[in-house]
Order: sequence, then C-alpha cells, then structure tokens
Amino acid sequence: MQINPLATDITYLKGVGPRRAKVLGEELGIRTVGDLLHHFPYKYIDRSVIHRICDLEEGMPYVQLKGQIISKRVEGVGRRERLVATFSDGTGMIELVWFNGLKFYEKSVLPAHPYLLLGKPSGWNGRLNIAHPELEEPPAANAPQAMKPHYHTTEKMKRMGMSSIIIDELIGQAFKLLGTTTVDETLPPYLIARYNLMPLDRAIRTIHRPLAAKDLPEAERRLKFDELFYIQLDILRHAVRRKQLEAGYVFGSVGERFLTFYHNHLPFSLTDAQKRVIREIRDDVRSGHQMNRLLQGDVGSGKTIVALLCCLLALDNGFQACIMAPTEILAEQHYASISDYVKDMPVRVELLTGSVKGKRRKAILEGLADGSVDLLIGTHALIEPTVHFLNLGFVVIDEQHRFGVKQRASLWKKNVRPPHILVMTATPIPRTLAMTVYGDLDVSIIDQLPPGRKPIETIHYRQGDRGKLYQGMRYQLQLGRQAYVVFPLIKQSEKQDLKDLETGFAQLVDAFPDHRVGMVHGKMKPDVKDAAMQAFKRHETDILVSTTVIEVGVNVPNASVMVIENAERFGLAQLHQLRGRVGRGADQSYCILVTSDRLGDTTRRRMQVMCESTDGFYIAEEDMKLRGPGDMEGTAQSGLPFDLKIANITKDQELLTVAREAANDVLDNDPGENLPANALVWRHLSELRRSQTNFSSIS
Ligand code: ADP
Ligand code: MG
Repeated sequence: MQINPLATDITYLKGVGPRRAKVLGEELGIRTVGDLLHHFPYKYIDRSVIHRICDLEEGMPYVQLKGQIISKRVEGVGRRERLVATFSDGTGMIELVWFNGLKFYEKSVLPAHPYLLLGKPSGWNGRLNIAHPELEEPPAANAPQAMKPHYHTTEKMKRMGMSSIIIDELIGQAFKLLGTTTVDETLPPYLIARYNLMPLDRAIRTIHRPLAAKDLPEAERRLKFDELFYIQLDILRHAVRRKQLEAGYVFGSVGERFLTFYHNHLPFSLTDAQKRVIREIRDDVRSGHQMNRLLQGDVGSGKTIVALLCCLLALDNGFQACIMAPTEILAEQHYASISDYVKDMPVRVELLTGSVKGKRRKAILEGLADGSVDLLIGTHALIEPTVHFLNLGFVVIDEQHRFGVKQRASLWKKNVRPPHILVMTATPIPRTLAMTVYGDLDVSIIDQLPPGRKPIETIHYRQGDRGKLYQGMRYQLQLGRQAYVVFPLIKQSEKQDLKDLETGFAQLVDAFPDHRVGMVHGKMKPDVKDAAMQAFKRHETDILVSTTVIEVGVNVPNASVMVIENAERFGLAQLHQLRGRVGRGADQSYCILVTSDRLGDTTRRRMQVMCESTDGFYIAEEDMKLRGPGDMEGTAQSGLPFDLKIANITKDQELLTVAREAANDVLDNDPGENLPANALVWRHLSELRRSQTNFSSIS
C-alpha cells in the first residue's frame, strides 16, 4: 500500500516536538503535513529587488537592503532601553532599532558584516528608522532569485519562537518529504479545463515557492477557486435538498382578490422592479416546492405592497397569510396601511400584538382557527403556542435581521407543511454576503424607487458647525416642516448616552424657544414613548429628540430633516436606515450627520460615502470594504460551512460568482450525484464535511 505523505503527522518533521505540535494544532488547525501545506503565505517579498537607502521614504512597505552595520550602541534606560545600530549601503545611512531581546541582538548583530536586511521604514522625529529588521546572510551571487514567503503566526506561536521563518523551514521539509509525489487533485479534469485552472499540485508548490512574482496570480486563483467552489457547492446542495424534501403548497391560480385589488384598488402603478419580484415569487409558489426567499429593497422601495399582493395570492388559493414585524409600532403601521388598502374588499385583516388582550384576542384566535381571519399582522405574538391557524400558507417576515433563525423555524411548526416564507429586509446585504451567508435563500431585489422621489440631500457637519446646523433647522421648521434629532444609545455606554440625550434635548429647547420639542428613548415606558411618538405624528411637536427607537418605523411624511448626532458611532447601514425616515413626502429633505471636529481617515470616508450616495447597495458594499477584514468578515466567516484559508469574500467577488456558477452547473447536471466525471467532486466534498466543518455555523 502506498502511504500518502500528506497524511504524515506533523511531529514527523524535524523541530516539531509534542509542544509545538500541540500549538500548531490548536492555533492553526495544522496536524498533518497536508494541513501545513494548506497554510498559505500572506505576503511575499521579492528578493530580486534591492532598495537603496537614499530612496527610502516613510510609509513604504517592506523593503530589502544590502549593506553593513557601521556602529551599534544601547540607548535609554529602564523600559525605554533599546539597541540602536547604524546601517549603511553606500548610498546613505539608516538607524536600526531593537526594543526587545536586546541581549540577544547585541551579541548576534555583527558590525562590518554583509547583511541582507528586510524591514519596514518608519519615521520618528523626522528621521527614518527600521524597527526589528530581519537580518540574513546575502544569497550567493548565482542563487536563483526568489520570492520570500511570509506566514502568519499567532502571539502564542511567536512566544514559542515559531516565527514565519520557522514555518517556512517546515514547509521546506514538507516538500522534501513529498518529493515527486503529486498532491492529490480535488477537481475533475473537465472543470480544470473549463475554468482554465492550474493543477492543484502545481498551485501548492507555486504558492509556497514561487520562482517569480508573475507566477503567483494563477496559483492563487486556483486555490481560491477551490475553496469558493466547495463552499458554494455545499450551500447550494443543501438548498436543493431542502427544496426536494419540503413539498410546498401550490398556489395554482391568480384569483379574484388579487386581480380586483391589482386592477381597481392599487393607488399607483407598480415599478418594473416590483412587478419582476412578484413574478419571481409567483413562480416559486406554484412550483410545488416550499419557497424561502429573501426580498431586499431599499427603504421606501415599496416592499409592503409586494408583500400584500403575495398574501392576496395565498388567500385566493384558499390559504391564510401573516406578516410579522419586529416591533409593535411597525406592526401597527403595517396594519393601518394594509387595512386601508383592502378596506373595500372581502378580506379580514387582524392585528395581534402583545397588547391585544382579553375578548379581542380571543376573537382573533378563534378567527384564525376557523379560517375566518385571512391575514394576520403582528409581532412575535404571532408565533406563541396559543396561536393556531387553520391553514397558514404564506408568511412574510419584515426586517429579517431582528428575527432569529429559531423564530423563523417555529412558524413552520404551525403547519403539517411549512408555509412559503418571504423574508424582507431593508438592510441591503452586499452581494457576496448574500451568496454565502444567505446562500441558501433565493434572493429577489427591488432595485428601483417609486417615481417622483426627491433624493435626500446629506450634509456632514462637525461640532463646530452647530450654528449653521441650527440655522438650517430653523429655516425648515419655519416652513412648517418637522425634524428628528437622533442620538446613539448603546448598552456599553448607556448611562452616558442617556445623559448626552438629555443634554441635547435641553440644548434644543434652549435654541428653539418658538418650537415644541419632544423626546423618546428606549428606556421610557411604552405608553409614554408611544404618546411622544403620536404627538410628533400629529404635528403637536416640531422636533423629536430620540435614540434609535425610531429606526424601525414611524412614517411622518412632514418630517424633512434628520439630524444624526455623533454620527461616527453608527454603522453605515444604520445611518442609511435612519436617513430613510425622511424624504417620504413631496418636500426636499435633508440628513445632517454631525461628528466631532477631529476625525480619522476611515470615519471621514464613511461620512463621504453617506453624502455622495443614497443607494443602499452601494453603501453596503462600501461599508464592507471600509470595515475590511474586521467584524463584517467575522460575520461572514461564521456563516460559512468551511473556513477560508486564502479566498476573501470581500475581495474575490468575481471569482466567487464564477465558482457559484460552476457549483450550480455541477448540481444541475448531476442531481443524483452519480456521474463518474464528478466522482472526485462528491468524494472531496464529503471529505471536507467530515474534516473541516465549521462548527460555529451549525445552529
Ligand atoms: P419599504 O420598502 O421601505 O417597506 P413601503 O412599502 O413602506 O417601503 O413604501 C414606501 C412608500 O412608497 C409607501 O408610501 C408606498 O405607498 C409608496 N409606494 C410603494 N410602491 C409605489 C409605487 N410603485 N409607486 C408609487 N408609490 C409607491
Ligand atoms: Mg417597510
């Protein structure tokens, strides 16, 4: 029997004892030689480029210098003690500094000895220096020029002396062990040919040991494709399976109520985007499979009417429908507008929230059980165990991010068969996230606003511009408009935030003696809060000071100004949501973002994105880019079936799309998973599922 060198335990390598093996396993999941070869470099330094000291500037990435140390000395005392050396290459001189391990470097750094130096120049007191450079013997003149790979290591590994250099050395051993044995291919020849991919063996050898920079892109592309393809295959296969297993109710006909409403009661004509989405949903609900669809549409894009039309479709086919909203206010608003839409039609609509009690509640529950309630609108109260529908066929969940997966699932249990589910969100999800985290939901997008909307004008002011801000507000208020002033409120700093809110309120009362100022915040009793909200709605107050409680609802078309204080503390998606609260009437509306006077680059850029665009999708994409490999990525990663080692769903959007198409093709052509040409694909997928399942994604 042939033994696969990749399966060799990592301790087989020289220099890896039980202690290091344990850390490699725990920190990076590296247990075998094969795992090690899948730990890819995160950057390379081109050894063919030697920089000259006279050309160095602050802010340059890693540079490579060739020269020698002229002198060295220890400077400073106590915690500020450091080793300083002067390095020269004949074109100039630069200081090298070591803050840690002075004793070691004092001995090992030799003057008048030729070194190849790697480091990052930075400025200090107007002079350039390089802190903790890597010093090596220069390569022999005839050695092949190579790209030097750098590997990520963790703090814990560094403390054990396991630097990038050590990993690099282990990789070298791994390749020696592998010899001429090729790394097993994970994609069948026809996919490799169709997508013009490098064979896996060559990609792995190239990624660790590139001969030149130009070889890297092809190797990276192959390895990224691999990861993205198998992730998409897993997600899509799961979705297909679910569709096959979950038979859905069939809404075969477009009936009386849908058509009557569409032709006689619809107060406007639908946008093309709304029509398209209704068609997509209609195709789902007559297919015989259960629908799980995510409807994305910017604030104000007209999702409610789409939801209503779909509910009518369910009614016409003999089913009940329900719409679930995240808050009472929003549920009430849906109830008010939908009751109004269908007031002249034989449709019984009811509202069920926590505050509907006693006789009223009993009557609704009876109506649901005997089928006389057609459409139920409400909050979480809809999914309480006491609520029984006769035949629930269609469920709309508004503002998906506020409902957990579990709550969604418990709606299904109200039926023998799961109803069709439409999840609506106004928080646009970047395309790549939608394809991965929500990859098993079908997605519909309303990418068009109803005609005649005036784009909201967004302005960025600093604290110092408060005079200008008040002047603008005063002008709008004198025209008879109303204004929101929103303050952040987060758990961690709740006390201080509430204080800021109160101060802000007092300031406004002071600054606007001729206008009425109201206030709502999350810590108020619901009835007090509601009264303040209603007063604003009835225009008994002109300015409403609030925390983000208004984010999820209230429709006050007369409000034309949205002031957001401490705007730098909100996420872009949240700012966009808040801004969507104005611009609902015919007047020109304004959103003013107020930040502190001094801002970092990212914050400035974030404010700029808000000022230059009102397109929620653009904002979501920019947000994702700005947050970079931070928390967004965390969210994304945790939703993935397998970890990403080289691909990046923010940066590799194009390849992700290609990989998704490839996975779709495989599933389409081989639904039984038994074509010989795909044997390798299915085997590798189950191997991945067995060895790599990302347990955080299992709920
Ligand atoms: P959202 O997508 O934010 O839930 P809504 O459904 O609340 O948006 O719609 C916002 C407003 O736009 C509502 O007042 C609604 O009546 C109106 N509206 C929706 N669709 C159209 C349309 N096709 N033409 C004109 N107005 C529309
Ligand atoms: Mg809405």
